[in-house]
Amino acid sequence: MRLLGVLGGMSWTSTEAYYRLLNEGVADRLGGLHSARLLVHSVDFDPIAARQHSGDWAGTAEILASAARGLASGGAEALLLATNTMHKVADEVGAASGLPLIHIADATAHAVVAAGVRRVGLLATAFTMEDTFYIDRLAAHGVEAVVPPPGARAAVHRIIYDELVRDVVRDESRASYRQVMADLVTDGAEGIVLGCTEIGLLVGPADTSVPVFDSTRIHAAAAVDWLLGAPTR
Ligand code: GLU
Repeated sequence: MRLLGVLGGMSWTSTEAYYRLLNEGVADRLGGLHSARLLVHSVDFDPIAARQHSGDWAGTAEILASAARGLASGGAEALLLATNTMHKVADEVGAASGLPLIHIADATAHAVVAAGVRRVGLLATAFTMEDTFYIDRLAAHGVEAVVPPPGARAAVHRIIYDELVRDVVRDESRASYRQVMADLVTDGAEGIVLGCTEIGLLVGPADTSVPVFDSTRIHAAAAVDWLLGAPTR
C-alpha cells in the first residue's frame, strides 16, 4: 500500500471523520486487519482561520506548505488536503511539497457527473461559495454550482465556524440548512454538494429531496482508491 500524507486539523472534527472513512475504506477493500497507511499533520486551526478572515491567504499557504514539506520528507507519496476552503491555495501547497495532490473538487465533480447530475447547490464556507477557485474547478468538469443568496450564505458560514468546527451540532442549525437546501432545489438544483468537510456532521441524504454529494466522503473514497494503486486523476 502507498503512504498518504494528510494535512488535517481544518478542522479536527472533520479530520476525525476522514480518519475513520480512510481506514474503513481500506478495510472494506482488503479485508483482514488491513488499515490505511497515513502520515497526518493536524495543524492548529486558529491561526489558519484568523488569516482566512483577514484575507492573508499567502500566510495560510506558508503554514500549509511547511507542513506539506514535512509530510514529503517523512515519506508521503501524495497529499490529501482535508478541507475544501484551503484548496484555494492547493497549487502552492502541492508545489512546495513536490507531491501530487488528490483534489477535493475534482473528486466531487467526478461523483456528481457519474450520478448524471449537472446542476448542484453548493453549501460551503463563504470563501468557497463566493470565490471562483472551487466553482470554476467544478465547472471545468461540466458541473454548474448555484449558491444560496447572501443572507443564507452568511448563516451557512456562521454555523460552520461557530458550531461545527467546535464540535457543536444543533437541531436549529440543521433546520436552517434544510431550508437553505430546499430553496436551492426550488431554484433548480438537481443535487446538493456539501462543499465543506464538517457539513456531513449536521445534514445528510435524509435532509433533502435530491442526491447529496458529501465532499468528505467522496474525497476519502478517492484517497482509498489512490492508496490501493489508482492515479490521483
Ligand atoms: N473544513 C471546512 C472546509 O471544508 C472549513 C474549514 C476551513 O476553512 O478549512 O472548507
